Amino acid sequence: MKRLIPVTLLAAAIAGCATSPTGRSQLMIVSPDSAIVESQKAYASTVTELDSNKQLITDPAWVKRISTITGRLVTEAIKLHPETAKWQWSVAIIDDPKTLNAWCMAGGRMAIYSGIVTQLNLNDDEIAQIMGHEISHALANHTAERMSRAVLTNGALSAAAVFTDNNGMALTGTAMAAKVALELPNSRTAESEADEIGIELAIRAGYRADAAVSLWQKMEKAGGGGTPEFLSTHPSPKNRAKTLAKLGEKMKSLNPQQTKARVYPVDIVTSAKELQ
Ligand SMILES: [Zn+2]
Repeated sequence: MKRLIPVTLLAAAIAGCATSPTGRSQLMIVSPDSAIVESQKAYASTVTELDSNKQLITDPAWVKRISTITGRLVTEAIKLHPETAKWQWSVAIIDDPKTLNAWCMAGGRMAIYSGIVTQLNLNDDEIAQIMGHEISHALANHTAERMSRAVLTNGALSAAAVFTDNNGMALTGTAMAAKVALELPNSRTAESEADEIGIELAIRAGYRADAAVSLWQKMEKAGGGGTPEFLSTHPSPKNRAKTLAKLGEKMKSLNPQQTKARVYPVDIVTSAKELQ
């Protein structure tokens, strides 16, 4: 126990406490700003790997569908958090029919795996709930929180360390932490926050509120035959579907006509060169 105290004090001294959009205080040793900078490097490394494996989807139908849905959500995200207008909002659509996953790094750099759409047979409203949930993790600085956890629990990930990824790209310890963080589960509290902010974004963007409930029902059902990657990094808060159904009812009045938001020009990453 003795050794834990200085680490905590040090952590508080470096970055202090932040407050999430729902008012929760967050202890961070990686500041939200440096999470954005380091996530950019982690994203470039990830996309380069995907590109060399020919896993970036460029099919126009996929690109149009994902960019339209995500673009509407981003319009609403920027309205609520104007400072995110300077983020590099981008999505890599990953050709991987077996994987049920999606994520958003700090700074609005996202990915969605084809498997989550095809295996769960998602409609546009459900895709909006997934992407809205992921965007909310970034808006609430959950990446910085997970990166802090990655650094605290992995001695090798000091800021001074240098790693080389599979493509020979050099990554600092903090950039590596951004990659490692993608595989760490969010806390249930963070999940509840992302659910709450995500359903609001989707409703404001013009998508059906009840899709949040059907989405998670599909996800839990898919979980029956082994845990999809998504559920291992997004543990289910208690009564998730019930809570989302209630939130949806309450928030429907934000956009009762389901008027579709303007489509923000999100960058769909179709080659690693775009990021250089
Ligand atoms: Zn989540």
